[in-house]
Amino acid sequence: MAYEVLARKWRPKHFEDVVGQEHVTRTLKNAIEVGRVAHAYLFVGPRGIGKTSLARIFAKALDCERGPTVQPCCECSMCREIATGNALDVLEIDGASNNGVEQVRDLRDQVQFAPTRGTYKIVIIDEVHMLSTAAFNALLKTLEEPPPHVKFIFATTEGDKVLPTIISRCQRFDLRRIQTPLIVERLRRICEYERITIDEDALLAVARGAEGGMRDALSALDQLISFKGDALTEDDVLAVFGLVSRKSLESLGTAILTGDMGEILRLVDMFDSAGKDMRRLTVELMEHFRNLLVYQHVGENLAHLDATPEQIRALAQQATLADATRVIQVADQLAEMEGRLRYALSVRTLIEMTLIRCARAARVVTLEEVMRRLQAIRTSEPPAATPAAPAKQAAVPLYDDPALKRVLQEFDGKIVGVEDGDD
Ligand SMILES: [Zn+2]
Repeated sequence: MAYEVLARKWRPKHFEDVVGQEHVTRTLKNAIEVGRVAHAYLFVGPRGIGKTSLARIFAKALDCERGPTVQPCCECSMCREIATGNALDVLEIDGASNNGVEQVRDLRDQVQFAPTRGTYKIVIIDEVHMLSTAAFNALLKTLEEPPPHVKFIFATTEGDKVLPTIISRCQRFDLRRIQTPLIVERLRRICEYERITIDEDALLAVARGAEGGMRDALSALDQLISFKGDALTEDDVLAVFGLVSRKSLESLGTAILTGDMGEILRLVDMFDSAGKDMRRLTVELMEHFRNLLVYQHVGENLAHLDATPEQIRALAQQATLADATRVIQVADQLAEMEGRLRYALSVRTLIEMTLIRCARAARVVTLEEVMRRLQAIRTSEPPAATPAAPAKQAAVPLYDDPALKRVLQEFDGKIVGVEDGDD
């Protein structure tokens, strides 16, 4: 039997197989169960997260010979034809390549006829935002007064490019980028089934490389298997994506938080020499500090934390190294750098400069902290002898103020900077 690529073989067949989009699948299943299926749906979300798969599952659910049902059988001829894209009653067009008014007029004429075998005629338009304005307008009439046997399912990566007149006639669902732990979990199950030996950090690296897309994750896995066979390590995956290892990314985070300039420069040199993708590094570093901030504020609440158990252990350690104000400063610096990356002549230099600034920030004491400490000392040890008429008296020179002297001694080696956060 011919080899079937993993992304196709493991394409979701049931609502339950669609990973990380429960907020959408639950609503769709509910609509089927109570018999309140709208006549048009719009799925918005980044590529490779299951929009088209979901459209086909929904079509099967509506047109299955045993349906409409939330559990399409996937065995009847309707289900099988829909899965392979050959069903007469399910018209699937790609807005990117069939974006002209003729195609849409053609479609409009076809949906006027009753379905041949299924319950509904279902029109699936992928990348619907690519339709020309004339095509949109041709579609609009049918969308306004659709025959009762017609259902529209649109999918797009760019929701804001779809005409408002179309959006207002659809039920809109926003599909999310799939969280890393969910991708890791799914990949682990698939690898077990396919008898592929792969360790946790390698699974995580595949998920990191896929940036929230299940299809990309499976394509990468395919690529790795044909390149390395059925035993995969983290290094194999990192080489394909140009990613740095989880551990060295975390080491860089620690070096930034502890202000260890030498370690920062050593790591950046190591990544650059190994040909790592430096832009990707900054994105991952930002995600790391974002997770750290979330951890500091809400703890291990997985709903907000896009991290695996190993990553969470590292976050727990780093959370003790710096308070949230510092972490925000680092995140701000990284965000600013990201904006400047595309104009940078030397990406490496920009990264080095930024990380050194971040590390320096780790050693900065804010003016507010100095004041707070000063206040604390003054409160516990009020000045001994107060002159009788302080208003007329020349003030004690600031540097001779004993409390201030103590504060400066305590913060020796640190740099006093101005607080620029609102925390
Ligand atoms: Zn069926």
